[in-house]
Amino acid sequence: MKYHIWTEGCQMNVADSRRLGSALEHLGYTFTAKPDDADVIVLNTCVVRQSAENKAYGRLHSIRPLKDKNPDLVINLMGCLVGVRGAEKLQEKLPFVDVFSPPSDPGPLIAYLTQDEDYLAETTATQNRFAVMDGDIVLPEHERGRLVSAFIPVVYGCSHACTYCIIPYKRGIERSRPVGEIVAEARSLAAQGVKEITLLGQIVDRYGKDVDDGPNLAALLHLLHEVDGLERIRFLTSHPNYFGEDIMEAVAELPKVMPHIEVPIQAGDDRVLENMKRGYTRDDYRKLVGKIRSKIPGVSIATDVIVGFPGETEEQFMQTYNLLAELKMDVAHLARYSPREGTVSERRMEDDVPAEEKMRRFRMLEELQEGIVAGINARYLGEPVEVLFEEKVKGRWRGRTPTNKLVFVESDEDLRGRLVTVRVTWTGPWSMQASLIQSPTPIVLQ
Ligand code: SF4
Repeated sequence: MKYHIWTEGCQMNVADSRRLGSALEHLGYTFTAKPDDADVIVLNTCVVRQSAENKAYGRLHSIRPLKDKNPDLVINLMGCLVGVRGAEKLQEKLPFVDVFSPPSDPGPLIAYLTQDEDYLAETTATQNRFAVMDGDIVLPEHERGRLVSAFIPVVYGCSHACTYCIIPYKRGIERSRPVGEIVAEARSLAAQGVKEITLLGQIVDRYGKDVDDGPNLAALLHLLHEVDGLERIRFLTSHPNYFGEDIMEAVAELPKVMPHIEVPIQAGDDRVLENMKRGYTRDDYRKLVGKIRSKIPGVSIATDVIVGFPGETEEQFMQTYNLLAELKMDVAHLARYSPREGTVSERRMEDDVPAEEKMRRFRMLEELQEGIVAGINARYLGEPVEVLFEEKVKGRWRGRTPTNKLVFVESDEDLRGRLVTVRVTWTGPWSMQASLIQSPTPIVLQ
């Protein structure tokens, strides 16, 4: 019996698909890259932008003929298109879909395949039922011993209410995973050859804050640091209000925890931040960046920015522009505001910044950021830097520095999963090239 999974969207979806794949492997299914050969097809969907939602519908309709040909084929629609309570509505619209699953929950599909009646009777959609797997992840055969970097969700959902954001409606309230399950998952991934894990949460620095006496993110980092076989640990995405000194100290002290922080600002103007309900000011954010840089030497910091939020004036936009020019972040993920149905900003605010103006603001920030990053990366030129290599792409090995910079190296040696010190020979705003300083030590087979 074979399964095929199609994944769209964020890292959380990538992680959810892997965990669902693992649950199917436990049941004896094997992965196939071809939907035509599959007995079970999973579409793990995203709705964060209209284009992602359209893609999901396009994909659904492209697999429909397979179901017409083979009525025994099981089709599972999963993720944010379904959301925590959207299954009923979709059932009528998509009668050829057999199972609807909320994000991060393989339960409905596994129950359907095993005809688990107790489970099928259970109706609380927001509950996290991944716990049935106890963190014992089985990678599909083609990834065993080959996958270098994997995501581990540590907090599901989000209980904040940023006015533009659809996530709390789709992924439910915040739920931290039990620490034992996370450590077990990290161990099982490391035993299958994974060298780097990235802990995921919509607000990852809130890990443990929704449970009494649970360990927090800093404590979790210390525990995971002890897992044999892991070389690198990362985590994202942090919220400025929860990024405490204990986390900064853990990153600075623990050699396996990489000095790269993803902490979005979203806007650099206080009025816009208030309208977004972010809960901090531009000055709070500026101070936080200063503190992170003073506590974690050599750190890189990434941020997210939305331009053209309802009511954003030219002056307010320039506040964001000037703050980014001042703070010189390593990465700025930029987005143009687009209203998502059901959010507070969609219901109560007018999307009044014209599309061309949003594009102009976007391009201004893009240009600014390109210059900043080119300058930051140029400092690496001629320097030795440690890179964890992941895969060969078009004849070049691709890997990342501790600060998460993308590095390409030409080499005939097998560098997959190897931590190698290389010398940087060229830098640009989005990537670098490097050459091997010496041959990496060969792996000794026991
Ligand atoms: S943007 Fe706000 S509401 Fe959306 S996931 Fe992040 S913190 Fe939660």
